[in-house]
Amino acid sequence: MVKETAYYDILGVKPNATPDELKKAYRKMALKYHPDKNPDEPEKFKQISQAYEVLSDAKKREVYDRGGEEAIKGGGEGGHGFEFHSPMDIFDMFFGGGGSRRRGPKRGKDVIHQLKVSLEELYNGATRKLSLKKKVICPKCEGRGGKEGAVEKCTNCRGTGMQVRIHQLMPGMVQQVQSVCGECQGQGERINPKYRCKNCVGKKVTEEHKILEVHIDKGMKDGENICFTGEGDQEPGLEPGDIQIILDEKEHNVFKRHKDDLIMHMDLILTEALCGFQKTIDTLDGRVLVITSLPGEVIKHGEVKCILGEGMPYYKDPFTKGKLIIQFSVKFPEKGFISPEKLPALEQLLPPREEVIIPDDAEEHTLIDYDPDTQNNRRRDVYEEDEDGTHGQRVQCASH
Ligand SMILES: [Zn+2]
Ligand SMILES: [Zn+2]
Repeated sequence: MVKETAYYDILGVKPNATPDELKKAYRKMALKYHPDKNPDEPEKFKQISQAYEVLSDAKKREVYDRGGEEAIKGGGEGGHGFEFHSPMDIFDMFFGGGGSRRRGPKRGKDVIHQLKVSLEELYNGATRKLSLKKKVICPKCEGRGGKEGAVEKCTNCRGTGMQVRIHQLMPGMVQQVQSVCGECQGQGERINPKYRCKNCVGKKVTEEHKILEVHIDKGMKDGENICFTGEGDQEPGLEPGDIQIILDEKEHNVFKRHKDDLIMHMDLILTEALCGFQKTIDTLDGRVLVITSLPGEVIKHGEVKCILGEGMPYYKDPFTKGKLIIQFSVKFPEKGFISPEKLPALEQLLPPREEVIIPDDAEEHTLIDYDPDTQNNRRRDVYEEDEDGTHGQRVQCASH
């Protein structure tokens, strides 16, 4: 039991979520609420980041589970006084980005997109076309914003990009306030409107539609990062960042993936479980597999079997495949499926039962259906009802 669930709730996972589930949840939420995509909810982005920062660390998660947010923030006694990283740092660490911190020339921001892919696409491989908007250096003015010589030093800030204002606090007391120049927005230069580039209206960049071909290789996994180096937004004086495509595996209605294995459920009726069965399975590449039980084999409820080489293809080694794991459920026939007089004939075929020795003083009881929500567990209640003669509907005989 955890003390609070707020961090789990923010990420939309249960308190028993595995590290992989937490990662996936963070990835989805962080991309959705990243300020580039959702500038209106910076607080939410921060919360997602803080929740993940704590829960992704086994030790901090334990502290949180035991003492809640207070224990993490160090409010109470024995607090840890934990200091959170900035949401952007967590994001960059997670996605391996942080273009600006890489060595070499100054780079623009990386652009991250999530791409939903089906299990079939990850099994067979696929090419997906993605239409994106990106900023490119204006081809007309080559990123100058106007004709050559049209760029002038900003007269307002004399090229510094900063503006100093004198602010009078009270008579005889002034304060210098430095702010970004309002004329040139900190650029330190301005473009003479007469010579301004008409194509980009002096912005130096234009927006362009770009079709990216994303090659999904057989065996790629959920969260896989496909990088288009240098395809990010262009900006004068900056090396463009990358476009990162993050694969987001859709849920499949038959197979659940676990690394390179596929897991599926299969229902058997009692007859099949006892007397054998033949079943077909449609694979993710459209083949049909047939499985046949061995003569005399009994499949128990909850039993797990597997087929080698019918799981997911290995990434970069697609001729090797994982396992297909089959979890069996055995459905028992309904009440009254056989008339009582035929029961001895059925019993003859089934394994013999063990004889039960009943002592003379054994107490006789009746089995009733168990419902943890509505029934009182105290035996006394059942007796009281019996004494009253009011057999409530909830008392149902299961045998006798
Ligand atoms: Zn231009
Ligand atoms: Zn200026």
